[in-house]
Amino acid sequence: MSIFLYNTLSLKKEEFKPIVAGQVGLYTCGPTVYNYAHLGNLRTYLFEDLLKRVLLYNGYDVKHVMNITDVGHLTGDMDMGEDKLELGARREHKSAWEIAQFYTDALKKDLAALNILEPTIWCKATDNIQEQIDLIKVLEDKGFTYKTSDGVYFDTAKVKDYNKLSHLKLDELKEGARVEKNEEKKNPTDFALWKFSFKDGEPFDSAQGRRQMEWDSPWGVGFPGWHVECSAMSLKYLGQRLDIHCGGIDHINVHHTNEIAQSEAATGKKFFNYWLHGAFLNIAGGKKMAKSDDNFLTLQKGLLDRQINPLVYRLSALQVHYRKPMEYGEESLITAQNSLEHLYNQVRELKIKNYELKIANDEYKEKFLNAVNDDLNAAQALAVFQEVLKSDLSDDEKLATVLDFDRVLGLNLKTALSLNTEDLPKEVQEIFRARLQSRADKNWAESDRLRDKLAELGFAIEDTKEETKIRYK
Ligand code: AMP
Ligand code: ZN
Repeated sequence: MSIFLYNTLSLKKEEFKPIVAGQVGLYTCGPTVYNYAHLGNLRTYLFEDLLKRVLLYNGYDVKHVMNITDVGHLTGDMDMGEDKLELGARREHKSAWEIAQFYTDALKKDLAALNILEPTIWCKATDNIQEQIDLIKVLEDKGFTYKTSDGVYFDTAKVKDYNKLSHLKLDELKEGARVEKNEEKKNPTDFALWKFSFKDGEPFDSAQGRRQMEWDSPWGVGFPGWHVECSAMSLKYLGQRLDIHCGGIDHINVHHTNEIAQSEAATGKKFFNYWLHGAFLNIAGGKKMAKSDDNFLTLQKGLLDRQINPLVYRLSALQVHYRKPMEYGEESLITAQNSLEHLYNQVRELKIKNYELKIANDEYKEKFLNAVNDDLNAAQALAVFQEVLKSDLSDDEKLATVLDFDRVLGLNLKTALSLNTEDLPKEVQEIFRARLQSRADKNWAESDRLRDKLAELGFAIEDTKEETKIRYK
């Protein structure tokens, strides 16, 4: 079945056609690791996870690359201001490297809690400095760069269709770029490929002292600009599979526009066929949730600290189409919490006779695919989920079908199911009974062994003071 995706390049829903049959190269712009991810960032990663799961569900082999921005992202959008990592280091009296590691680990925990699938490749900007230098050298050789007192810049006037992603008139783009003054730039939209650490032998911004992250280069000691990392790493890791590139809508006018300009200038080839962008998570009053504002909410503060299942946030993100703004509010969170609990209860109440049944019902599967393949319409897919539960299918078939849908929805339905022991496959029942006995006998070694054996068969054990429960893993 065809998948239709809204491509920012054409401003249309297009049928997805991969470069290599059956395979997809997917690049998603990752976090700048100078602070915790907020729920807005996580909304974007959830949308990208939905896209990836839909591609997998359709049988594609997906190679997913996600970068970690640990250098070069400045506080100003137009290459001015301070490196966010150096700023984080000063704020917390740690090294920039420690800051990067700490917030990368924190992000990975959040992604796991939200049941977001790990990328095939994680890559860090600081591990790919040479690749970035090499790309800048190619651009220099081809005449796309010039030097100023603070760095090496890309000359955007040298590319024909600089605005092909933003669809903005050049005047509008220039206006946006003029916010930060840099007299030495030839055009307001030009951007830094390499920034220098020193000016006239002094650390560049001597008030803030010497930079912690810097490298030697043919142009002088310094660090790469932010956009060049994503070009260098996507070309390196995806090579001939430049299918889909994603990020939040804030990346369209500057970051992704510049990635396209420099990559196509360097390779002479089209850089990614499909560009997908997720809308913002806003806080009350339509204001974008942002790391630079102190009022941002993390998964920890907003949900985990309050013992709210993080998948509640996943469900609420699924309910709003990824191209529509989503408003974060207490009320919508509580509604989503009730919805998830209700959904889990509906599944728990199914009277299952045959847990071995794995095949989803064809008719509903087709409806489900029609929904998710139509530019990731997850709200419609959730409606199909409810239709299945209300249908006259047998309970066994209902369970098999919704568990199949959960490969896309990622709501961990299996974990929610506590199973009735009599309904389990015979082998599992026997091991489970033996496990109860060894626990009663306080034979902990045997008890652990049997728990592991059940895990191998796909079942998890939950021990409480009163009872031991078994559920899908
Ligand atoms: P950053 O860590 O700031 O580089 O952002 C990581 C990702 O989160 C990028 O794809 C941004 O476009 C996205 N993003 C930033 N703020 C929001 C927001 N309020 N809602 C949704 N996505 C966002
Ligand atoms: Zn990027």
